[in-house]
Amino acid sequence: MVNAQGKYVYDFHEGNAEMKALLGGKGANLAQMWQLGLPVPPGFIITTEACKKYWSDEQGLMDLIWPEVQEALARLEKVTQKTFGGGEMPLLVSVRSGAPVSMPGMMDTILNLGLNDDTVERLAVASGNRRFALDSYRRFIQMFSDVVLGIEIGEFEFLLNQTKRKRNLTHDHQIPADALEELIKNYKKVVKKSTGREFPSDPWEQLRKAVEAVFKSWNTQRAITYRRINKIPDTLGTAVSIVTMVFGNLGDDCGTGVCFTRNPSTGEKKLYGEFLINAQGEDVVAGIRTPEPIEELDSKMPKIAAELRAIANQLELYYKDMQDIEFTVERGKLYMLQTRNGKRTAKAAVRIAVSMLEEGLISSATAVTRVTPEQVEQLLHRQVDPDAVLDVLAKGLPASPGAAVGSVVFDADEAEQLGKDGKAVILVRPETTPDDIHGLFAAQGILTSHGGMTSHAAVVARGLGKPCVSGCEALEIDLAGNCFRVGGKIVRRGDIITVDGSHGRVMIGEIPLVQPSFDEDFRKLLAEADKHAVLQVWANGDTPEDARRARSFGAKGIGLCRTEHMFMAGERLPVMQEMIIAASREERMRALDKLRVMQTEDFLGILDAMEGYPVTIRLLDPPLHEFLPKENELRDRLRELTAAPSPENDAEAEKIQKTLAKVLSLKEVNPMLGFRGCRLGIIFPEIYEMQIRAIFDAACELVRQGKNVLPDVMLPLIGTQEEMRRLKQMVDDLAAEIMEKHKTSVHYLVGTMIEVPRAALIADKLAEYASFFSFGTNDLTQTTFGYSRDDAEGKFLAEYVRLHVLPENPFHVLDRTGVGRLMRIAVDDGRRVRSDIQIGICGEHGGNPESIAYCHELGLLYVSCSPFRIPVARLAAAHAALADSAPKK
Ligand code: PEP
Ligand code: MG
Repeated sequence: MVNAQGKYVYDFHEGNAEMKALLGGKGANLAQMWQLGLPVPPGFIITTEACKKYWSDEQGLMDLIWPEVQEALARLEKVTQKTFGGGEMPLLVSVRSGAPVSMPGMMDTILNLGLNDDTVERLAVASGNRRFALDSYRRFIQMFSDVVLGIEIGEFEFLLNQTKRKRNLTHDHQIPADALEELIKNYKKVVKKSTGREFPSDPWEQLRKAVEAVFKSWNTQRAITYRRINKIPDTLGTAVSIVTMVFGNLGDDCGTGVCFTRNPSTGEKKLYGEFLINAQGEDVVAGIRTPEPIEELDSKMPKIAAELRAIANQLELYYKDMQDIEFTVERGKLYMLQTRNGKRTAKAAVRIAVSMLEEGLISSATAVTRVTPEQVEQLLHRQVDPDAVLDVLAKGLPASPGAAVGSVVFDADEAEQLGKDGKAVILVRPETTPDDIHGLFAAQGILTSHGGMTSHAAVVARGLGKPCVSGCEALEIDLAGNCFRVGGKIVRRGDIITVDGSHGRVMIGEIPLVQPSFDEDFRKLLAEADKHAVLQVWANGDTPEDARRARSFGAKGIGLCRTEHMFMAGERLPVMQEMIIAASREERMRALDKLRVMQTEDFLGILDAMEGYPVTIRLLDPPLHEFLPKENELRDRLRELTAAPSPENDAEAEKIQKTLAKVLSLKEVNPMLGFRGCRLGIIFPEIYEMQIRAIFDAACELVRQGKNVLPDVMLPLIGTQEEMRRLKQMVDDLAAEIMEKHKTSVHYLVGTMIEVPRAALIADKLAEYASFFSFGTNDLTQTTFGYSRDDAEGKFLAEYVRLHVLPENPFHVLDRTGVGRLMRIAVDDGRRVRSDIQIGICGEHGGNPESIAYCHELGLLYVSCSPFRIPVARLAAAHAALADSAPKK
């Protein structure tokens, strides 16, 4: 009967896999297997609509659906020739919850529903195994009491253990029938004591209570929390599947098992799984007996094995994905209890996607969407073994993915020294500065107590592909004492630790790691991804080596070459300092001349390595004080020198005095908002002139060698049209002069970063002079929110996210509402003035999948990220395009 309100109960033959929203994932798949003619134990499903209605109209719903349930059960009795609550062979059922999306946290399964003092005896006779019947009953009472009646299972466990102790038994399955009888009596007493009522013996009452418990489980705290974390709507509701019980533990012609249609670790195309003869599902999970590999089934139950293999094939052909299957064999007959898309490792995900594509089972688009950007990330870096038991010492920000093991060092020089000796070290610092770069190079991993996702340590580590945990504020680093304290523990120099930059975790000791695998399948998958992506992926890279790596990962250009990084390496820093401290223009020009020679070499290397692709070279950006030693270090050294006067010490002291004076004169309260970027270029034009000369000398030289080089000169932190106009003029004038000198011409562009709100708001004005825009979303986020990128993440941002003041860390995931709005304005206004303006992004968001999706929406030409993130970005760009309904290229 279908009541006037609608239909709430579906037999398996009425459903299919497309009906997940109504029948839940589990129910829809059972129905689909039935439709495919597979041996599924008969059953029916109460819809998610009923659950939704239950929550809107609790009083009447159960009465409303009950006649339908009774009719469905009557049909079940007919097909199974069993009787619910009586008969020669009593009908027992399992009751399970099943939401439209897989959702742990909901009600656990109830098995053997329908047992009572009477039916248990009937089952004993029918099965010829009284012990089995009693044990099923005992388990049922415990399960039902736990999940439906809400009774703590501790008391049941206590009684069970007491029985075993009294009889000197180790395992549950050794408990004889008479002891089980006694146990059942005692179990019922627990129920009476806890609820004040007898354990429900009426199977109909059992069923009604179980169904209601499933509905209730939709809104338990566990389920609500899980939904919130996984962004699952609260409105979906859960279905209830009610399925005839089949038993795998009635003898040696019975059994139970689980298998995957392909290997879930490697992706190999081969049935993979295990089974146990004469057992129930629980026995497999409990681990009392060791299950046998599925291959053994071929010899133990050849007919069943052949049938299972055929079904596995059929299911894969139907679902076009690797299936995770549960089955039971009851007295020589195979039953399928469940099928669903199987969970798999990142490596298996790639293998399966590529081989299913090659087998013609799935399309290229499907293959690409089968692998997530997070899985790609796992494949690119060493990871903490997911099976390792972890005792996490401290948590910080997941600043650069991958994991590393090494001994703790607190000093960059020592890291370099030990690194040269082939030792694995983790550089631990309150924060890193350009002075530490050699230590970052040498270390296996980096750990800082301060600084956020765009801190020096984080940016450099990502560029180098090294794991980094930053902003680990719980660490109290004592540099003088060569140790750090955290949670009452002390970790000293030389102690081994593991840093997990993918999850921001720090552990003491050596945790086993899994190796990365950038294999042929991976390359094939990314090649497929490129066919769908609209966005190009460029790289942020500062050296020829970065450029080569970027190309090998598939970059189509360099979107940001931070020239300051070139000045931070060993022998260059002193020259840079010489230039900054110079007392006269002549002195400064001498130092700049030396720097120009070095820069020309840099640009020759990087332009050459990227031949055929654009290289966006950003002129000097950071405040000059970043290249100078710290004030307190200088003062300390000065004290040492003046305490021990000598001609050499006096000379050094004089030099330090000069440096100190410069440091003090450059000191700013807010250096990030201060004298940096294009402001430097306007006030000290010599620096930019030197860089522009180096760029065009290098480019002309390469053009003369017949190479196709494409330098784009990028101006940082532009905020006014006049800044843009003047500096563009400077580039054009010098470029013309140098090309004339070399008697050749170079194709180049001049453009700007958009990294302060004003730049976005006057994009139309800037576009009059700029041929390209590149969104520097690190600074744009900092200046739009007014959050210091060096401080906010360590101080309050994590708390803001925890308290839901912000949905995400905006330095990690682009803030579409605010920063994104500015980007939109800049894109629209810029294009209005210059329709072919080239627009990309080079802030750290360029490697973040959610932010990449927004860049796709904005119609940017490219995203630029560190070379190691390129594969992630290529896949994310493809996903964004595939998710977009607009016509694909
Ligand atoms: C930015 O601000 O987004 C950017 C790429 O520049 P930097 O991080 O070097 O300031
Ligand atoms: Mg910037």
